[in-house]
Amino acid sequence: ASITRGVTVEIPKVTWEDIGGLKDLKKKLQQAVEWPIKYSTEFKRLGISPIRGILLYGPPGCSKTTLAKAAAHAAQASFFSLSGAELFSMYVGEGEALLRNTFRRARLAAPSIIFFDEADVVAAKRGGSSSNSSTVGERLLSTLLTEMDGLEEAKGVFVLAATNRPHAIDAALVRPGRFDLVLFVQPPDLEGRNQILSVLTREMKLGDDVDLKRIAAETEHFTGAELKGLCKEAGIVALREDISATVVSHRHFQTAKDSLKPALTKADVDSY
Ligand code: ATP
Repeated sequence: ASITRGVTVEIPKVTWEDIGGLKDLKKKLQQAVEWPIKYSTEFKRLGISPIRGILLYGPPGCSKTTLAKAAAHAAQASFFSLSGAELFSMYVGEGEALLRNTFRRARLAAPSIIFFDEADVVAAKRGGSSSNSSTVGERLLSTLLTEMDGLEEAKGVFVLAATNRPHAIDAALVRPGRFDLVLFVQPPDLEGRNQILSVLTREMKLGDDVDLKRIAAETEHFTGAELKGLCKEAGIVALREDISATVVSHRHFQTAKDSLKPALTKADVDSY
């Protein structure tokens, strides 16, 4: 049973519409992930072989995981999730076994998407540190590369890897036939934050005075995850003020915002 530890199989329910902003990125993912699965006959007719993997990079909380799930939903693909950090922490051999087993199950359940979070932990540049742990990473990386190369013949298995540390990734991973596309999932700009807030407040009862544009303007450097936290906090502020409140008003958002500080700075963003 330990061999399946940490792996979840499902077709996610998240849709492209649940993700605010990132219009171009969503389109690229649609074409690269959704199309080859949906239109496999058409691809075959034209003799195009679809790409096997995409590396998503960018700061935490900007919807890398959510994008992968939305791609799986759109393609009605089984979704497998692996974490580099979790593989790395396993007993000797167990991480490789889980990796191989996940690819095997993904081939059986195709069309499938394997989401590989914290890829940098496993796919760190080789030959760096000489500690014992680097050999664990090297073995996992070579297993991953072997499995990626094996996808050439497998139909309908797609790997979406994610990292917050793109500079640490081994170049062998972004060789053609492995991760052919490397996409930056950027933190939202003003327009992006506005769209994210619209998505996040869809189900909320908002007062007439709530001005999402203004909130977007006043939340520079907030990630999507932090905006989600802000909306939740605004609801709690409203209830704290009056437990029988029926709407969340602008001042509740203001109070919530004053209690939160974005983790990202401009320097962090510029470092990507
Ligand atoms: P990490 O690198 O920490 O895994 P991530 O980039 O994978 O982060 P997600 O886990 O996808 O980020 O996002 C965190 C949460 O923030 C999600 O629950 C999602 O609902 C929300 N979120 C982030 N970005 C957006 C967005 N653009 N639109 C709507 N919700 C968002």
